[in-house]
Amino acid sequence: MRGRLPRFKCLYCDHCCYFEREYEMPTVFPWEKRLLEELAENLGVSLEFKPLQVYIDSEGSCIITLYRWIIRGYCPFYDKERHRCRIHRDKPYACKMYPLLLEMPSGKLMLSGKCDWVANNKKTIEQLSRNVNLIPRVFPNEFEAAKNAFIEFSSIAEYVEKKGLKPVTDLKTCATIMDIDDYIVRYG
Ligand code: SF4
Ligand code: SF4
Repeated sequence: MRGRLPRFKCLYCDHCCYFEREYEMPTVFPWEKRLLEELAENLGVSLEFKPLQVYIDSEGSCIITLYRWIIRGYCPFYDKERHRCRIHRDKPYACKMYPLLLEMPSGKLMLSGKCDWVANNKKTIEQLSRNVNLIPRVFPNEFEAAKNAFIEFSSIAEYVEKKGLKPVTDLKTCATIMDIDDYIVRYG
């Protein structure tokens, strides 16, 4: 049984780099957004982000903890000729963990049905659904990325709770808006 489980190997189909529905687009931490913006500038492409998770403090300062990376169609970092990501080493956790999908804040792991490897390995996926402890054996690198993303998400959640920050949806109520890491540098 131990030797029979295959290890995930990307088939370079492109399904994880093409987006039509907003809820499928990657979520990124503020520091990932800034790295993507730097890489985009170097490569001469433009990016779009939307604040996804925002909190407000008692002074009216709004703090962004998560962004939705808005990608219409192919990702601007996708090399269509070579079927490769041009920023492979620096891509955000959401891309590094794919085809694993991480539900926040529960930490529940799911698998994307869009991925060709997942579609071609139904028996393995059934085994994983019966025993989730096998996921790191099939998806070692992807599981590591999901774990690290969850650790970061949890430490942000702890900070938000400690500071008594409240969720906010209407950014018009904000006196100022900043990313969580800038807020931590300023207010500790
Ligand atoms: S960053 Fe790379 S892996 Fe992520 S969507 Fe863009 S091309 Fe695909
Ligand atoms: S959808 Fe799956 S097989 Fe296709 S490129 Fe993405 S990770 Fe690789």
